[in-house]
Amino acid sequence: MENQYMKDTEEGLLKTYNRFPVVFDHGEGVYLYDTDGKKYLDFTAGIAVNSLGYGNPEFTEAIKAQVDQLIHISNLYYNTTCGAAALALRRISRMDKVFFTNSGAEAVEGALKAARKYAYEKKSGRYEFIAMEDAFHGRTMGSVSVTGHKEYREPFEPMIGGVHFAKYNDLESVKALVNEKTCAIILETIQGEGGITPAEPEFLKGIRKICDDKDILLILDEIQCGMGRSGSYFAWQQMDVKPDIMTMAKAIGNGVPVGAFAMTDRVAKYSLKPGDHGTTYGGNPLACAAVKTVIDLFEKNDLVGHVGEIAPYLTQKLGEIVKECECAVEVRGKGLIQGLKITKPVGEVTANALKEGLVVISAGKDVLRMIPPLVIEREHVDEMAEKLKRVL
Ligand SMILES: *Cc1c(COP(=O)(O)O)cnc(C)c1O
Repeated sequence: MENQYMKDTEEGLLKTYNRFPVVFDHGEGVYLYDTDGKKYLDFTAGIAVNSLGYGNPEFTEAIKAQVDQLIHISNLYYNTTCGAAALALRRISRMDKVFFTNSGAEAVEGALKAARKYAYEKKSGRYEFIAMEDAFHGRTMGSVSVTGHKEYREPFEPMIGGVHFAKYNDLESVKALVNEKTCAIILETIQGEGGITPAEPEFLKGIRKICDDKDILLILDEIQCGMGRSGSYFAWQQMDVKPDIMTMAKAIGNGVPVGAFAMTDRVAKYSLKPGDHGTTYGGNPLACAAVKTVIDLFEKNDLVGHVGEIAPYLTQKLGEIVKECECAVEVRGKGLIQGLKITKPVGEVTANALKEGLVVISAGKDVLRMIPPLVIEREHVDEMAEKLKRVL
């Protein structure tokens, strides 16, 4: 089973992952192939990244053309792609001003800094953050400080100061933490890593009201659930609330590393100014060509509409699995970010699924995470269900 690629990886890289024993070589549509030529149905999409699937010719052609033209230039100069990418992102996100980053964690870092800068400019004396238990926001010091898993934070303490954790979907627990020092409330619109839990509309609306009443900023992290996956471009757009700051990453580059945070004009007016924040790579010509092309292809193929069509079928099929398999107990989520709660050890199930030719990962302790490329069709949902039933 072990081959040279695995040996080199284990020898050369810092051991921060327990990798599955497979070396992926290439992909086509919604399938991946390993170095032995074995075919796998992909229900993970590189963790909600590869929404267009693999080998989309229009996407790869656009990337190749940009590689030939210009890969990188500093943000000290204008380039030919970042403006168009920002305007496209502005249109689909309904936010006003965009800052491009290289990753999700950096988008969260930027959002936290933007919120503190807003409070600083307003001389409000506010600096505290309210975050959620079971939240995941990334692995840098700031983003891990607002991540709601003690195990992720403890080895790196002290964290950034003034972070308090409320219970997700429990408005009273949020209210109990709000005070005159609260600067922003940060949460995922649908908790991903923590177990695929959508925010209840009343919870989000309640938080929005607290923020409006007290000039506290609402930061929604749409890094995993955003970019069409929930059935709208961004999950909050189904819920009649609007964030002041939003973070994005993962699917916006379809695999080219890029993230972003965006804010309303009302916040931007008081927030980051020249000199306050920056990045060497963030929003370079290649990354922005990826973002612009992804958005063009989403619109051209109405991928968001496609998610709306296919998602109920995935829910239905997962529901059938709950009826048929004793160890499957609950389906949750929205659009093409769904979870299947199981009673069997989830690590064993994902490992056995891989042997069956199905790529699926966990979310939290007991949930199988279903985050396929958004281009899946019913036949792929059927194939997934057959494979998963055998495994369960
Ligand atoms: C993946 C993820 C992040 C971190 O993104 P990276 O690109 O891995 O830094 C932050 N928030 C959420 C909700 C995520 O799913």
